[in-house]
Amino acid sequence: MIAIELARVYGFCPGVRRAVEMVEEHLRERGPLATLGAIVHNARVVDRLASCGAQGVRALDEVNAPAVAITAHGAGLEVVEEIRRRGLGLVDTTCPIVKRAQEAAHRLSEAGFTVLIYGEAAHPEVQGLLAWTGGKGHATLVPTDAPLPKGGCLAVVSQTTKERDAFWEFVQAVVGQGQGVLRELQVVDTTCPETGRRYRAAQELARRVEAIFVVGSRNSANTRRLAEVVRATGVRTHFIESEDEIVPDWLAEMSRVGVTAGASTPDEAVQAVIRRLRELGGDR
Ligand code: SF4
Repeated sequence: MIAIELARVYGFCPGVRRAVEMVEEHLRERGPLATLGAIVHNARVVDRLASCGAQGVRALDEVNAPAVAITAHGAGLEVVEEIRRRGLGLVDTTCPIVKRAQEAAHRLSEAGFTVLIYGEAAHPEVQGLLAWTGGKGHATLVPTDAPLPKGGCLAVVSQTTKERDAFWEFVQAVVGQGQGVLRELQVVDTTCPETGRRYRAAQELARRVEAIFVVGSRNSANTRRLAEVVRATGVRTHFIESEDEIVPDWLAEMSRVGVTAGASTPDEAVQAVIRRLRELGGDR
């Protein structure tokens, strides 16, 4: 028998779970809607929602439904206004933690700060945060790219899914560069604790098992990063999208294996992997 152990924290974060539930409720009670971008980076969930009437679109011009859902990553205020201007219903699933980051970016830019976002400029959440700065924001992961307005005020916030320690290292570097240049520097830690909780739980699990199955879509940045964190512990790591990818030989001579999943992976995908592991001799 091979023992199967689940990470202490894994899978859907509260923000993604809430977004999916809001869309499901709308589909059930009010009918079809369009989602502006993928509601979650997981094909299983997107396909299920599509079969119930959720149309994924990249731009408002593509919408062919009476309502539009904004994803947990949020969007700029101008997107919300445009949805209303077009007479469409709005299902705003922006995660409350992302909303707090948007409010910070907006308040600081209104107060005259140049807003620096520690994050990936092309990521939808960062695009939304930039929009909330009213064009006065800048996003980067490289401290030397930070704008340093001479005698001016700089505020630093973070893309919510970035690791807290990495954010503060970035801040330290910017503080060093800004000495004697900036008049004022404000920092608002807008990182989300959920990401770090999944990493730490996976690292703890790695100490107790011989191999870990990381379940999630390859197009999910947070699951890819989770797999990197697991791999860095030295434990044998299998990054799989579904139970069909499990090779029975992977379990040869194993006595204890672990399972974890990214913040965009639904419970049903994790349960399907556990069922398959049981079929192959696992015990849980
Ligand atoms: S990772 Fe955090 S900020 Fe992002 S959706 Fe989940 S709970 Fe919200």
